[in-house]
Amino acid sequence: MTDDPKPRPATLAAQALGWIDETTRAVVAPIHPATTFVRDADNRYPTGRIYIRDDNPTYDQVETLLATLDGGMAALLFSSGMAAAATVFQALSPGDHVVAPKVMYWVLRRWLQEFAVRWGLQVDFVATDDLTAFKAALRPGQTKLVWIETPANPLWTITDIAAAAELTHSAGARLAVDGTVATPVLTRPIEHGADIVMHAATKYLNGHSDVLAGALVAARTDDMWERIRAIRRDGGAVLGSFEAWLLLRGMRTLFLRVRQSCATAQALARHFHGHAKLAQVLYPGLPDHPGHEVAARQMQGGFGGMLSLRLRDGEAAAVKVAAEVKIFKRATSLGGVESLIEHRASIEGPGTAVPGDLLRLSVGIEEPEDLVADLEQALASL
Ligand SMILES: *Cc1c(COP(=O)(O)O)cnc(C)c1O
Repeated sequence: MTDDPKPRPATLAAQALGWIDETTRAVVAPIHPATTFVRDADNRYPTGRIYIRDDNPTYDQVETLLATLDGGMAALLFSSGMAAAATVFQALSPGDHVVAPKVMYWVLRRWLQEFAVRWGLQVDFVATDDLTAFKAALRPGQTKLVWIETPANPLWTITDIAAAAELTHSAGARLAVDGTVATPVLTRPIEHGADIVMHAATKYLNGHSDVLAGALVAARTDDMWERIRAIRRDGGAVLGSFEAWLLLRGMRTLFLRVRQSCATAQALARHFHGHAKLAQVLYPGLPDHPGHEVAARQMQGGFGGMLSLRLRDGEAAAVKVAAEVKIFKRATSLGGVESLIEHRASIEGPGTAVPGDLLRLSVGIEEPEDLVADLEQALASL
């Protein structure tokens, strides 16, 4: 054994950086519910803290831990993943050009189409896994931001972050990555050249389906990061103190949960690949997934806890399988300890590009055999 004084990310997460409350010596951080802080008689604020919308002491440990796990210089918490994502685009100026993926989290795509365009941004949607199309969409000098998501909802499309960063930077733009599905356990986009990482902390970071939260991590604290910080402070899309505390509690088990979800998702993908009732199993960990090679390079320790099944008999069969499961819960969202199943086209509604025969699975931490048996009995009902 060699001495290694630098703890690994899983150790840092388990101990939430090992911070001790100075006043009480407690191993768990207190919650600060105060909205305002006292000014000294000399008219100064000795701690620099003034008002809770500007700066919340309950965020310090969570933001520092997340920045550490992602290898960034700073992190900011937001009231939701969407608030975090929207803030990145609001830090741009009218007339700026933005490139976003064709396959991406659908609410953000809708927000870009309906809100960002009225805000004056020019948005092009491209297949970001196709580097030729990606390059053609960039307008050097005018493109200010490229947004990618990897693995991307709900086909688990993989984008090569290092290649995307190189193309984006040579066009003079910044690269932002939605890292919700990969989490810092599997991918650290900043190490591959990304400028900003966004997390729907509602999902794996918290992990218990009981907190709505978002976060941004910056590779460096530049002028854009200062605009982002100001938008959060003045626009007020801040997280409550209790939610921030719960999020830190959830993040302590992030590595255990994500590793188990990955192992079980890989086992499910292997088991159901080639199943008579299925047309396709979409999972980046399967060698026939179009993004497998890139995923194997940029993801460490697993291919994620999300997979999708396409039913041979189409949409009605997909809805029937979702109706027949007993252990999987029929619900939207992802990244919790309980496994979820969703007929994705139904939640996205008319105009969705998601195939009607697709079921999206978020794999939790239950016994893998129970999940296999549950899906087998649901498929047997067809
Ligand atoms: C859920 C989700 C979001 C949005 O996060 P909220 O916390 O629900 O606002 C963004 N991106 C991805 C990939 C998500 O799964």
